Amino acid sequence: MSYNLPLLGWETTMVYRACFDWMRQHKAWTVFGAGTALVLGSEVVWWLWKQLRYLMRPKPPRFDVAFFNELGEECSVEHYHFIRLKVPKDKRDCGNPHCSERNVQKLVNQIDTAVYSVDAAIFSFSSVVMTEAFVRALSRNVRVRIITDHQSAGNSVFQKLRRLGVIVRGPKHMGARNALMHHKFFVVDTESRVLDIQKSRGLRYHRPIVTRFATGSVNWTMQGFGGNWENCIISHDASLAEVLQEEFNRLWKVSVNTAPPKRKKEEYEELW
Ligand SMILES: [Zn+2]
Repeated sequence: MSYNLPLLGWETTMVYRACFDWMRQHKAWTVFGAGTALVLGSEVVWWLWKQLRYLMRPKPPRFDVAFFNELGEECSVEHYHFIRLKVPKDKRDCGNPHCSERNVQKLVNQIDTAVYSVDAAIFSFSSVVMTEAFVRALSRNVRVRIITDHQSAGNSVFQKLRRLGVIVRGPKHMGARNALMHHKFFVVDTESRVLDIQKSRGLRYHRPIVTRFATGSVNWTMQGFGGNWENCIISHDASLAEVLQEEFNRLWKVSVNTAPPKRKKEEYEELW
């Protein structure tokens, strides 16, 4: 009968000594082994760091809904005084649970926290507040793509965004079909889009992302935000966001630039 006994003290010392002797005799192999262990070890540490950052990422609420209704503008006098008295934005609490401004801010917050991309398909867009959010996103190097209806493609918001390098597209053959590009949704930082962007930058990794989307009946206009009865759902469901992203990508491919900037097509294909 044999037993597997643990190494005794003197046996352990012998093993260490034998290893040490071997390393002294095979210096090249020792250096090679130590180098390989260092490279593999750093990869493992990097992977663990990425997992940790992913687990520690800010976890927003799963969804939010913005309703625009007849009560949304009841606090407009309060907001007028907030602006007149230069009250900081985070302290402007009008107390109106239906406040249009607060609801618009929910959408603005999504754009303001975008890190890599915002892809928007929007029928009508004239809101100054939303435009400013897109301008801030561009200044953070966020890639913005917009698909809209040909009817609204010429408005001043799109002209301004085009001047800042945003490509605004509209579906092909729309006139012939007499159909509207009637979507009102946007997706922010979806995994697939972020990976594409990083690939185009020659990078493999990206920072932790919070994927989200917003969709509903509301157009980004004064009438939509402050006149009509409308809704907009904001969700952090990454799988649904990917479905919207896929449809956006498909539509992007079958769309044409509504007013191409004055540079060669290849140049901005490369950029975007
Ligand atoms: Zn209000």
